[in-house]
Amino acid sequence: PYDVLVIGGGPSGASAAIYAARKGIRTGIVAERFGGQIMDTLGIENFISVKYTEGPKLAASLEEHVKEYNVDVMNLQRAKRLEKKDLIEIELENGAVLKSKAVILSTGARWRNVGVPGEAEFKNKGVAYCPHCDGPLFAGKRVAVIGGGNSGVEAAIDLAGIVNHVTVLEFAAELKADSVLQDRLRSLPNVTVITNAQTTEITGTDKVNGISYKDRETGAVHHIELEGVFVQIGLVPNTDWLGDTVERNKMGEIIVDKHGATSVPGVFAAGDCTNSPYKQIIISMGSGATAALGAFDYLIRN
Ligand code: FAD
Repeated sequence: PYDVLVIGGGPSGASAAIYAARKGIRTGIVAERFGGQIMDTLGIENFISVKYTEGPKLAASLEEHVKEYNVDVMNLQRAKRLEKKDLIEIELENGAVLKSKAVILSTGARWRNVGVPGEAEFKNKGVAYCPHCDGPLFAGKRVAVIGGGNSGVEAAIDLAGIVNHVTVLEFAAELKADSVLQDRLRSLPNVTVITNAQTTEITGTDKVNGISYKDRETGAVHHIELEGVFVQIGLVPNTDWLGDTVERNKMGEIIVDKHGATSVPGVFAAGDCTNSPYKQIIISMGSGATAALGAFDYLIRN
């Protein structure tokens, strides 16, 4: 069996694997896609001490660093079940069952889709999820932001400084963002906020040319002409496969203590799949280190 088996090969998993392997214990890492979300990221300017890098380049460095150590890297493998027996068992989609004394869950998260016609079709053709990455592509154009929570309103404020006009579409009767963000948003001249708006379709030909929404009060459907749509309705943790084995909050995030320990002895977690309030590369790497040290501490006591 492994001493530490890491599930997930993003920044948190890579960090956890390196910290575990440096203790000289038997370490493995299973990843559906090594690199994780940073594989979809272009410019990164907030990975401290590196002024600018790009996601795939950082992912390659992570993999290179992990491979400096004696770590079993099992890439393109998806875990589908966790069970605590004497050891902790992880079953993969391919049927293999891996056993380990301690496990670190670092399966990350993904952007929530709005699930309307046009969204999938126009992804990267006007439909975007990351204002920091894609905002500049819409300079001088008109965009909508779907979602009036903190991330949607932050995105709208950010985009308003770049694009010609931003329409925020909020499903509920009121924005959900913190009031300081709402005040800031409403002070901007090129932003329109529409509440009670249910997005029904993202329209286009070869790229986005508009968005349709239903006014939930009147039932009337309206169409707005624009060039871009940013979907900002949340991040979903990749934790469904855990069933009810490990305690999670109502968002599905794994609840961890300050050592990265979960509700199951020997099972630790790190990064965007946990209830850490901020989801960033540098934060997920720090929590990966914490979880590995927590797991090592657990191993020497059990
Ligand atoms: P992830 O990166 O999500 O990695 C999860 C890993 O788990 C992947 O290897 C995945 O394949 C694997 N996995 C998932 N489920 C399973 C399973 N069942 N079995 C096996 N493996 C599984 N952060 C910044 O700090 N700066 C930025 O500029 C920045 N820009 C971003 C731009 C975009 C477009 C996106 C999407 C994110 C951005 N982020 C940025 C956020 C940052 O990428 C994340 O906070 C970070 O990647 C989280 O790392 P993680 O290891 O927790 O999870």
